[in-house]
Amino acid sequence: MKFEEYRIAEGIKTSISKLGFKKPTDIQYKAIPPILKGEDVLAIAQTGTGKTAAFAIPILHILQEHKIKGRPDGVKCLVMAPTHELALQLDSVFKTLGKHTRITTFCIHGGVDQEPQIEQLNKGVDILIATPGRMFDLVSQGALNLKRIEILVLDEADHMLDLGFIKDINDLMRHLSKKRQTLFFSATINDKIKNLAYSLVTNAIRIQISPEDPVAKNIEHAVAFVEMDDKRFFLEYLIKDNHEKKILVFVRTKIRAERVKKAMERVDIVADTIHSDKLQEERERTMRSFRKGELKVLIATDVSARGIDIPNVEYVVNYDLPESSEQYVHRVGRTGRASQKGQAVSFCSSEEKELLEDIENNLGKAIQRITISKTDYQNTLDFTVDKSQDWKSLMEEAELEEKNRKKKKRKSKR
Ligand code: ADP
Ligand code: MG
Repeated sequence: MKFEEYRIAEGIKTSISKLGFKKPTDIQYKAIPPILKGEDVLAIAQTGTGKTAAFAIPILHILQEHKIKGRPDGVKCLVMAPTHELALQLDSVFKTLGKHTRITTFCIHGGVDQEPQIEQLNKGVDILIATPGRMFDLVSQGALNLKRIEILVLDEADHMLDLGFIKDINDLMRHLSKKRQTLFFSATINDKIKNLAYSLVTNAIRIQISPEDPVAKNIEHAVAFVEMDDKRFFLEYLIKDNHEKKILVFVRTKIRAERVKKAMERVDIVADTIHSDKLQEERERTMRSFRKGELKVLIATDVSARGIDIPNVEYVVNYDLPESSEQYVHRVGRTGRASQKGQAVSFCSSEEKELLEDIENNLGKAIQRITISKTDYQNTLDFTVDKSQDWKSLMEEAELEEKNRKKKKRKSKR
């Protein structure tokens, strides 16, 4: 089936074809009709398979129809996302797809001044994309009314319903009308969260695509055994060997992100970091530059693991193993988007072997091993242009910078 055959507003079809989407992806094919009918949907499909448009297309259509019928103004759809970057990305997809409709989309998130956001809300917004923190601030100040919401979307639903966010989501439910339509989308979901999701809705339709392997088929992923102190040399080698490729490197903590960046700078590799201690403008600037391909190497914590759709990320490196199999799926899922192919490698040290075992058990699959001979291992260590080998001072430098950054951030918040 082609998009032309769908019963959706012509303006939306125009935008779809401008985006170059020829036919719906599996999840779009399965999710669009029930959403158009007003059903509650829990949709699970692998990373990079077009889940955003699977909810954005029918939502824009429904709201456009209502608008033509002259329904009153107010926020009618709320889309919740876990991070600023993802919220902004969703906002851009809704704006692109809704360009030839009368539907207005707006994004609110923390880390920036709230006055312009209130001003925009007063002007009238149909679809609001939000991270929980700022949204609740605005609700409690009376600047945002959620009473007219007809559709609620939780993108990265399992994460949004997990510990850190569940209280927010429960609070949110109390503000919403019982008659609303609720949509959950994610690439991963466990039974506990699934039950929780069901308890929030009536008769949700469950759509699940390719549940056997949670990692998308376009991603070739493997693990290499590399000792903790040697990881930087392997990263240096990998980056230099994949010159000009866009590489996303995941590390466990913010401090490690800065430390790895420093280590790369010492060997003449330009890299930047993204994590929650950075100022919002810095985060956005870095993302833009990585998106455009001006920045080739981005070192990130898990804030960037969920939902972020950056074209042409050819390599994902798990410099540190993630804590869970879900995180693994989402991190490697930043490559191999849509029909593109992608590669991912995880560096596993002796200390991390147990983690690897857990991840593999939960994935229900062994991850392919890269065998490195003793000679190749030694050659990689010798390859480095960093002859200082003074790791300790690097670490101290990075921590000092981290402290200064925090100071700067605190000042700017005042
Ligand atoms: P997911 O949320 O499933 O991880 P996204 O919604 O971020 O995936 O989409 C991944 C990529 O696929 C995006 O770059 C998007 O533009 C592209 N895409 C979405 N739908 C289609 C389609 N029908 N045909 C081709 N590309 C698509
Ligand atoms: Mg998504």
